[in-house]
Amino acid sequence: MRMGSFRELAEVMEAIASTASKLEKIALLGEYLNTLEDADLEVACTYLTGSPFPAGDPRKLNIGWSALVDLILEISGASLQTLDALYLKHGDLGKVAEELLSRKVMLSLFPAPSPPLTIQGVREAFETIAALSGPRSRQHKMEILRRLLLDATPLEAKYLVKIITSDLRIGLREGLLEEAIARTWSVSLEEVRRANMLLSHVGLVAVMARRGQIHTASLMLFRPLRFMLAETIFSAEEAFQDQAGALLVEEKYDGIRVQVHKEGDRLAIYSRTLDDITASFPELHANLLSLASCYILDGEIVAWRDGPLPFYLLQQRLRREDPATLLQEIPVVLFAFDLLHLDGQDLLSLPLEARRKALERLNFRAPVYLSRAIIATTPQEVTRAFREAREKGNEGVMVKRLDAPYTPGKRGRLWMKWKEELATLDVVVVAVEHGHGKRANVLSDYTFAIREGEHLRTIGKAYSGLTDEEIERLTEWFRAHTIRDLGRVKLVEPKIVLEVAFDAIQRSDRHDSGFALRFPRIKRIREDKSPEEISTVEDVRRIYEHQRIKP
Ligand code: AMP
Repeated sequence: MRMGSFRELAEVMEAIASTASKLEKIALLGEYLNTLEDADLEVACTYLTGSPFPAGDPRKLNIGWSALVDLILEISGASLQTLDALYLKHGDLGKVAEELLSRKVMLSLFPAPSPPLTIQGVREAFETIAALSGPRSRQHKMEILRRLLLDATPLEAKYLVKIITSDLRIGLREGLLEEAIARTWSVSLEEVRRANMLLSHVGLVAVMARRGQIHTASLMLFRPLRFMLAETIFSAEEAFQDQAGALLVEEKYDGIRVQVHKEGDRLAIYSRTLDDITASFPELHANLLSLASCYILDGEIVAWRDGPLPFYLLQQRLRREDPATLLQEIPVVLFAFDLLHLDGQDLLSLPLEARRKALERLNFRAPVYLSRAIIATTPQEVTRAFREAREKGNEGVMVKRLDAPYTPGKRGRLWMKWKEELATLDVVVVAVEHGHGKRANVLSDYTFAIREGEHLRTIGKAYSGLTDEEIERLTEWFRAHTIRDLGRVKLVEPKIVLEVAFDAIQRSDRHDSGFALRFPRIKRIREDKSPEEISTVEDVRRIYEHQRIKP
């Protein structure tokens, strides 16, 4: 059997990066994917999405920026100043690794021959790293990474680093990969998309397409699928803009989104980042196990005692390894609002109305509840529901179309969220500074950014809203993930997502997004959101336009 080489994959990524033509990218992909055996095809597709594991795979490498920088410095023999200067030039750690390692190759007259990297070799290394835990795991991880980087050519190192940091930036969205799969094996794009939606594993989809089995793709229990997302609306009238009929209005619970899979006596609760968080919520297990015999449901876990408790308490439940002591202090409940699979039948393509009926028939018992919902036919009814939801301590309402299928990973108008008078933004922290007064020893001032395509654009700075304990924890994280220390300001790895509230959005050239926030304050740390999911310049523009037309 021909072993897929990592070098060829790196070369294809390089070629894709160097053309702006979508058709050419698709052609390059198709030609390359066709040469691979099934096992390599599966993994190569995952790497082409810029991720070390498939979308639906909860495993993580947990390799910090500083660990990678340490290794690149060690192997290249370069100084931190050189690396800093190169980072400033490229803004891309993969490119920095490539450049520093190629200088090293030029310098050494007799480079030690090492076996070429294979796709399967990289996969095994990643799997071993993800499985490591415990006190010596960092050292062990570093050894495996060091081996990989030592065996890599500079170009391979560039793409290894890009995949490890999930920051590919070669102008390839997953949608383009889906198109390439459809064309290469002559199947319809709809079928490829549908299969990928169900499996969250584009590599597996490619293998099925080649074997002519794509139509057999179905949901798999205990392989979480991406969550359906909602678009922000600012008024009840907006909810009826696209359709005149009835809408389902639910309370928008302020907790964490979960997907529950159950079959026989096996149960798993997955978070929005597709992590398995079953062990954090033991009091839900008995009820979830008796809800139905085999199902996948979508819902929200909320900290609750006679009503919602603050969100940060729920986060404490998630962080504790042993939740026993917190069970009494911070009780939780689960509100179920959608059903994706029941007893061997996938329900995704059914309209919400039918899925809701099936959900209502399940055997709900405290502390697992059916979400509260009403049917609204006028903006006045939606407004009333919004006010009532706010009075009960909820964030607002979710407004859903009754005819909508469940569309995993998609954000659109089939689900709408109406939060407060003005929306909040999800932003990623890009730079931090020490605070003042009692906060002089901690990193408590954050500059944050929104997204524009593959770029991050700064939009503001905030230093209020978090608890001392949260600031301590973030300070520790930022120290370990500082990319460049500029003295007072430290540039950090863009991974920490915050939800910020503000009074208004203004045009401004102070930040490179072209906008600034008036009175920004941090509402919470969004541990459940990844930097890919933050607000975009488009979102900001919409909010800006909206506030301008408001009386
Ligand atoms: P946001 O996190 O602001 O993007 O709002 C969407 C989130 O609201 C979802 O991901 C859920 O975690 C949460 N949510 C709360 N209540 C509901 C509900 N009834 N239906 C759907 N999502 C809900």
